[in-house]
Amino acid sequence: MVIPATEKNPTIEEALQWRLLIHGGAGSMTRDQMTQPQDSGVRAALGRALDAGSALLKLGGSALDAVTASVKVLEDNPHFNAGRGAVYTYDGTIELDAAIMDGRDRNAGAVTGISRTKNPVVLARHVMEDSPHVFLNRKGAERFAIEKGIEQVDPSWFETPERKRQWQEFRQHKSRYFDIDMKYGTVGAVALDHEGHVAAATSTGGLTGKRWGRIGDSPVIGAGTYADDRACAVSATGAGEYFIRIGVAHEICARVRMKGESLQQAADAVIAELGGMGGVGGVIVTGPGGDLVWSFNTPGMYRARTGSTGERVIAIYADE
Ligand code: ASP
Repeated sequence: MVIPATEKNPTIEEALQWRLLIHGGAGSMTRDQMTQPQDSGVRAALGRALDAGSALLKLGGSALDAVTASVKVLEDNPHFNAGRGAVYTYDGTIELDAAIMDGRDRNAGAVTGISRTKNPVVLARHVMEDSPHVFLNRKGAERFAIEKGIEQVDPSWFETPERKRQWQEFRQHKSRYFDIDMKYGTVGAVALDHEGHVAAATSTGGLTGKRWGRIGDSPVIGAGTYADDRACAVSATGAGEYFIRIGVAHEICARVRMKGESLQQAADAVIAELGGMGGVGGVIVTGPGGDLVWSFNTPGMYRARTGSTGERVIAIYADE
């Protein structure tokens, strides 16, 4: 028997409460710097990533599956500094980092220095679910990926002409690592599912010109990625060293849990602290109460949010 959707009998889709918030990096994006094709290409890609995650949440899928799906779409899109389109290291290689965290039990998985696994977020998820460990690096992580049958690609798959040009410019001008013009383009997602669980995932190529096996905040649990059902889920982007020093993602959740701050208050306070130390970047945050929050101190941040409320926002510039 088909039960008609009335106010008293909502369809399953209408009855499920969920939220999804994604980012594609914070940086110096201003209206006069971005070309029209860039602007619309980024918005379209953010829209597709929102669709991938929300399609699952709508049908009762988990926050964990949603953040995995959204981040995967962003990793595959060359507009962002993650997966395909990641930035180059000083030596001209590509080394990817990713992390994922489940707010239900604070289980987590992370990988760093990845150069052959097509979707580092998928590998991080396997580390969380199929290994006794939380954080794997380089060759060991990729050996694990092969053992688990996770898709491998030639390292050239990640390369794009635009990132190569940025790398050449970096080498010629000896740019500073935290030059805001390097346009951080890390990707991330946070979600709340209909069971009230939160999850977070982040994936990145790190910083253009990074050296000596540098690891940023994105795969560091508590710095660039954190999720705890008692408080919130956070994914960060920006100058990773500062995020690590503050433990940004955990700090936001700790303020919410122990000080009773709202998600916005906690995110703004921690981004202000970051700015005070000289760090630039931003965060996206959601929590069991259903708030969707972002906070950043850069001119722009690629970001988008949606939820069972029907809201759908895609934004780039600070004034949007
Ligand atoms: N947070 C990243 C890192 O430092 C960079 C970014 O957000 O674009 O590796």
